[in-house]
Amino acid sequence: MITVTKTFFPPIEDYQRQLERIWKNRWLTNNGELYKELSQKLQDYLGVNHIIPMTNGTLPLQIALNAFGNGGEIITTPFSYVATTATIVWEKCTPVFVDIHPEYLTIDETKIEAAITDKTTSILATHVYGNPCAVEDIEAIAKKHKLKVIYDAAHCFGVRYNGQSIFNYGDVSTCSFHATKLFHTGEGGALFCQDETTRQKMWYRHNFGHDGPEKYRGLGLNAKMSELQAAMGLSVLPYMDHIMTERQRVCRHYDKHLDFNALNKLKLREGAQWNYSYYPVIFKSESQLLKIKTRLKAQDIFPRRYFYPSLEDLPYIQSLQCPIADYIAKRVLCLPIYDSLSNENLKVITLIINND
Ligand SMILES: *Cc1c(COP(=O)(O)O)cnc(C)c1O
Repeated sequence: MITVTKTFFPPIEDYQRQLERIWKNRWLTNNGELYKELSQKLQDYLGVNHIIPMTNGTLPLQIALNAFGNGGEIITTPFSYVATTATIVWEKCTPVFVDIHPEYLTIDETKIEAAITDKTTSILATHVYGNPCAVEDIEAIAKKHKLKVIYDAAHCFGVRYNGQSIFNYGDVSTCSFHATKLFHTGEGGALFCQDETTRQKMWYRHNFGHDGPEKYRGLGLNAKMSELQAAMGLSVLPYMDHIMTERQRVCRHYDKHLDFNALNKLKLREGAQWNYSYYPVIFKSESQLLKIKTRLKAQDIFPRRYFYPSLEDLPYIQSLQCPIADYIAKRVLCLPIYDSLSNENLKVITLIINND
């Protein structure tokens, strides 16, 4: 069976070595030795200002919205994973959808200003498939209207933009280290920010609001990453260059062999150094997509309809339709991509898609 992705498992000896450190320390969570080491290694590897690893990639979004959202309207994209919208609603804010760019598939920055009202507090945009949003324009709009910018950068491990980590953009960026993502800790994630004041605001929120053992600074929840998660992260991190190289091979195969007369592919933003996190293709029609999906399934190949349905259709949302997001969501299919996907299997997949 070929699935859209396969979790990378480091050699078990690597993981055991990390576990032995935990047993020796007799310390399972709360700022442990492995947690601190992973924080430092990720900070160096990614070249980021401040990082707070957390227990998944959804809670950092919620924490940032709790700090910046203020119960107001959040300008956001309908083309993302459900967590982007759900966290807004969970924090008692109102999502205001702005349609996406038809080729970059990120929020259309030229339509943001028309959606701003006196209730708008923040912009929450997704660098979808690791493709950066128009960060300069978004920053200028946010400055002009005194809004905070949060990036759901769940797909962006290792992405660089104009020479630095994409996580260094926005007031806060978040990443997911879920098992299906590029770099993983089983479940896990991180929050990134640019200054110490913001880091403190986010830190206390992720640890029950604690300011030392006997004092509370404000409302918090529990989003701490455990030593067991950090052990997986420390075991996977040394293989990231290998993972990226192999995924690049997969992308090159698709780039070279797929028939792009019948399909469109993602347009990467100029200045982006991408991470090969997904391989989305856009069919001319939904029926075409469904036909190919069925044919692949018959050969035990399972791509995924990321992201479908468009988020403005969620049952707990009232929103105007976003025609471009709707069009793309109905036609986009993410093809299998992972480090161990063989060239033979890639040939089979490409043949099925091309053979119309
Ligand atoms: C995976 C993902 C999340 C959620 O991350 P978890 O680590 O699974 O909580 C949020 N946003 C996007 C765009 C994602 O793909």
